[in-house]
Amino acid sequence: SDHSLDYPHAPDAVDWAVHFPAAPGPPEFADVGCGFGGLLITLAPLFPETRMLGMEIRVQVSQYVQDRIAALRVTPDAPTHYQNISIVRANAMKFLPNYFAKHSLSALFFLFPDPHFKQRKHKARIISPTLLAEYAYALRPGGIVYTITDVKDLHEWMKSHLDAFPLFESVSEEQLRAEGKGSILDAVYTSTEEGKKVERNNGEKWLACFRRIEVARET
Ligand code: SAM
Repeated sequence: SDHSLDYPHAPDAVDWAVHFPAAPGPPEFADVGCGFGGLLITLAPLFPETRMLGMEIRVQVSQYVQDRIAALRVTPDAPTHYQNISIVRANAMKFLPNYFAKHSLSALFFLFPDPHFKQRKHKARIISPTLLAEYAYALRPGGIVYTITDVKDLHEWMKSHLDAFPLFESVSEEQLRAEGKGSILDAVYTSTEEGKKVERNNGEKWLACFRRIEVARET
């Protein structure tokens, strides 16, 4: 293909200045399968000091988001200069650890992931025991995994796998709001293109959030 994918061999091989020119450094929020970038663009001005990276596998979609961010950065009257958000075209299921160092993330988002309805396609789901180990590695203790979907079966799948994984504990929406994460939750529900589509169709949305637990000692 003419779209050769150049993956960094490790997070410290990523030139973050290319992504976050105003204040280079590794990202703290990751949006996995970010689609058209609605979450990043909504959160950018709310957390101007927080670097955020979207991962999107589709070439055209990731290019669109990159162009969208570039345009926002040069919009004179933009409320912020969107220097803190960026995107990579990447298969997150294979290369997440190439981008995010151990315990570097405080938030990891899986918003309206592809459902892969058929049983034989379940291994393609973005939440699985193997991948959860990678997510727990990238998240710092206390970090939050946000999942939301309009597919009840997928919600139950994600929830049961996260519940069963020893390094994650379920945390209620109420608790997160009490901790000041209400604006993040509002964005999780409504900021993305898929979330808006579900609203237009009067679909239901199922949220499930988990905290990366603190452990006394890890090997
Ligand atoms: N989160 C966005 C939203 O809420 O609007 C997009 C949701 S869309 C249903 C799922 C997205 O995940 C698609 O854009 C798809 O290309 C992307 N995706 C699927 N598998 C992926 C993978 N392995 N790595 C990165 N992105 C992936």
